[in-house]
This record gives sequence, C-alpha cells and structure tokens, in this order.
Amino acid sequence: MKINIDTKIPSRRVSKQIQIGGVKIGGGAPVVVQSMTNSDTRDIKSTIRQIKQLEQYGCEIIRVAVPDMQAAAAIKDIKKGIKIPLIADIHFDYRLALAALDSGVDGFRLNPGNIGDSAQIKQVVLAAKARAVPIRIGLNAGSLPKQSGAGKSVAQRMVDAALAQVRLLESLDFDLIKVSLKAFDVPTTIAAYQDIADKIPYPLHIGITEAGTPRTGIIRSSVGIGALLYLGIGDTIRVSLTAAPKEEVTAAWEILKSLNLRQHGPVLVSCPTCGRTEVDLVKLAQQVEKELQKIKKPVKVAVMGCVVNGPGEATDADVGIACGKGKGILFRNGKKIGTVQAEDFLKALMAEVNKF
Ligand code: SF4
Repeated sequence: MKINIDTKIPSRRVSKQIQIGGVKIGGGAPVVVQSMTNSDTRDIKSTIRQIKQLEQYGCEIIRVAVPDMQAAAAIKDIKKGIKIPLIADIHFDYRLALAALDSGVDGFRLNPGNIGDSAQIKQVVLAAKARAVPIRIGLNAGSLPKQSGAGKSVAQRMVDAALAQVRLLESLDFDLIKVSLKAFDVPTTIAAYQDIADKIPYPLHIGITEAGTPRTGIIRSSVGIGALLYLGIGDTIRVSLTAAPKEEVTAAWEILKSLNLRQHGPVLVSCPTCGRTEVDLVKLAQQVEKELQKIKKPVKVAVMGCVVNGPGEATDADVGIACGKGKGILFRNGKKIGTVQAEDFLKALMAEVNKF
C-alpha cells in the first residue's frame, strides 16, 4: 500500500465569492464559522444577548429562525445590537422573506421551491437581488420530497433537489447563491457535497445536521466537516449540536484549527498520561484549559505528565510545563527555561503564556 506522507491540506475548491454583510464567502476567503440562535427571535433582548455572547466566542455569521411576521420585524432591532451579519431562516411563506429584507437582513436560508408560487418566488428573488442579499439553498435529507427520485440514493436525491433550486434562481438571473446539503449520516453528507462541488460554482455551507449532544455530535461533525474540508470543500461551517450555541462555535473553531485552516486563540496540547505520570495532570490540564479561554491570541500551550519525555513530545508548543513529582520544568519551544514547585504549576505556566 502506498502511503501519502504529505501533510499539507490539498488545495481548496475555489468557488464564486459572495458577501454576507461584511463577510466574504468563497473565492479563496477563509472558511467562516456560523451558528444559529436558540432564543425566541421575537424576544429582541435575549436574542441580542445570545448573539453578542457568540461573537465573543468567535461566531462570524449568525442565523435566526423567522417563523412569523413579528420575528421578521424584530430583525431590524436585533441588527442594531450586534456586529456580525444576520441570516434569516425562512420556510413556506414568501411574505416573511420580504419582511426580513425590509428589516435589513444580510442573507437568507430558504428553499425557493417551498416559499410560494412562481410569482411569489420571483418577487422574493428580485427583492433580494435589488439589495444584494444572498440566498442559501439549504437542503436537509429529512425534508426531501418523499416521492422524488425513486431508486436513487439519498445523496443523489439531495443533489438533484438542490440543483433544481439553483436552476430556479439562475433562471431569475440571481447568482448570489450558497448551497448546503446536510444529512445526519456522514458518508451520505460527504457524497452529496463531493458530487455537487463539481456541478455548481457557488460556495458551500457544510455541516452534519441533527448531529446530537456535544459528546457524540462534536465527533460526528468533526468527522464529516473535517473530511470535507480536507477534500477542499466548504466555505462556511456550522456544527449543529443539541447544546448552547456557544458550544457549536467553540467546536467549529477547533475543527478549523485542527486542519491548520485558521488560527483562533490558544491551542492546548496535553499528554494522555501513563505509568510515568506522578501528578494529577487531568486536573491541571482542565485548569489550564479554563484559563486559556480568557486568551484571544494564538498560542500553543503544552501540559505534559513527565519531565523526561514531556518537553520532547511537545517540541512544537510555544510554552509548556512538564510535571514531575513535586516539581516541574517550564519550557519554551521544547527548551527548558526554569523549574517550578508543584503548587505553582498553574500560576507559573499562565505567567509564561501571558508573557508570550
Ligand atoms: Fe507518559 Fe510523559 Fe508521555 Fe505523558 S509525556 S504520556 S507522562 S511519557
């Protein structure tokens, strides 16, 4: 078996660039982190509070549900209280899309085919075009028309359905398009995105839908989103979790950092512990992780469980500590810079991190 030892990410698919608010999507722009609020959009204060918290965690585009006219109207005030672009999630009623546009929304997630008849779709698309507001065609495996594509795979049916929606928008001379094809099943999702990536020039929003609670949902999303990004596919990402949206944003950034696609705050390296470990390294690593959440700049920090192998095993860390019985050594770039007593492990390491 031939083993590929090239560790570089293959080149990314270059899509047509669109812009949502001030954020560039596709066309070589960095992969963008998205999330969705779970507050009632009509509750303007709560929604602003949640979005501002997500901004702190690094959310770059936010989506809100727009189930009725009151929610569509609330977008106007919500936008006044936030910094990042806002996307309206709309189904079944073209009037909600028009109202969201009037409220100054930056983008849509909708399926043109399910928001009205052809005259109503045209009205929405022309209004979006006039304001240069992009539309994401968001297909989910669970909401495919039941009767369509007999004998075809779910992935193929998602691609066919998305292409039909894309052609509909193109027929109205609209090309500010983004597409997503999400399924719970990871291989289905990957197959669908791989197929459509070659068929359309537009940016792709990627994710695994209904991925679950953080423990399994982050793994499922990381496998699916990670595989696609490694194949060069994906311009925006969302990790969909049954959890507070800030967990989605944190997980999304970890995926991007894992693939060296973007830098965002610190990276923690910690050893798995073994029979040589003579301190409570799990506790120390958790304490360090908590402290690092306060730091916004990129720095790679290592917490290692023995003074013999620790520094060597974390040579690419910027700053680290290798803990032995009663004392440990601080190191920078794998080189020893001092010795500290056990009670000072956390304090000394964080002082060095802050200096760095
Ligand atoms: Fe074991 Fe030391 Fe490696 Fe940690 S760094 S896993 S304690 S050998």
